[in-house]
Amino acid sequence: MILIDGKKAAAELREELKQEVTELKTKYNKVPGLTVILIGDMAPSQIYVRNKEKSANEVGLKSEVIRYPDTVEEKTVLEKIEELNNDESVSGILVQLPLPKHIDKQKVIETITPSKDVDGFHPMNVGNLSSGYESSVPCTPLGCYLMIKKIEPNLSGKKAVVVGRSNLNGKPMAQLLLKENCTVTITHSRTKDLKAECLEADIIVAAVGIPELVKGDWIKKDAIVIDVGINKTENGLVGDVAFDEVSKVAKALTPVPGGVGPMTIACLLKNTVDCFKRSQK
Ligand code: NAD
Repeated sequence: MILIDGKKAAAELREELKQEVTELKTKYNKVPGLTVILIGDMAPSQIYVRNKEKSANEVGLKSEVIRYPDTVEEKTVLEKIEELNNDESVSGILVQLPLPKHIDKQKVIETITPSKDVDGFHPMNVGNLSSGYESSVPCTPLGCYLMIKKIEPNLSGKKAVVVGRSNLNGKPMAQLLLKENCTVTITHSRTKDLKAECLEADIIVAAVGIPELVKGDWIKKDAIVIDVGINKTENGLVGDVAFDEVSKVAKALTPVPGGVGPMTIACLLKNTVDCFKRSQK
């Protein structure tokens, strides 16, 4: 069984991006810039943003974090986004979610200009992805996709089952696999027989949020299994896949932690570099 090392894959991607940023600096005399807006003081968001900033600096991006208290008015945030949309030194804008209740998430997402939407959440990018056009792709499914491609470069004709249909994970993941000519099934909480669906799959991506939902006897021999879930339990962090059981059957599997998580941030940096490159065309 191949244990897919997300930390290693992320380090390799960061190294590639570092090289690329150096080349871009020589070519354009400027570097891609990432601006993160952080509202409130929720601990997980603080940690995510700190990690994003650290990784951005590591690859040589210009990075900035704009902090607001959780009482900030929606109007102030939207005006700041407009300002960043018009700032040439900013290639990518990310507003860390979740937002306080009085701020309309969709309005925030739609105010970020699609060409700087490094999260890939803007409806324009969602549409571009589903139409097969160039777009920013949400970071977590992009990371999963890159890891799957490393194991199996030719996905054409493979059966893929995506468990979960969120806008953040399941839906964009399915689009990426479809673009690779997989036969894709999207499953969710109303799916009648999840085990039977999974047993058909050459590739399974689980993004649900239920600890160890996907069992060993749900897996076809030699399937590639990607575990997006991060669940806090009495036994520490576990994924949506029963790791011990599934590792006995699968060809390749991501661990939790150390699988999908590290690649998510590296893909945010990739999206920032890609937005910069598109803006220079
Ligand atoms: P979500 O709650 O938005 O969506 C969960 C999906 O799972 C829904 O579409 C729902 O229909 C489906 N679902 C629920 N119960 C089900 C069941 N019994 N059988 C089949 N499907 C079922 O969640 P999300 O934002 O997509 O996140 C999913 C998981 O991924 C969470 O554990 C989250 O913490 C984790 N996550 C990890 C990363 C990372 O970087 N590794 C990033 C984002 C989210």
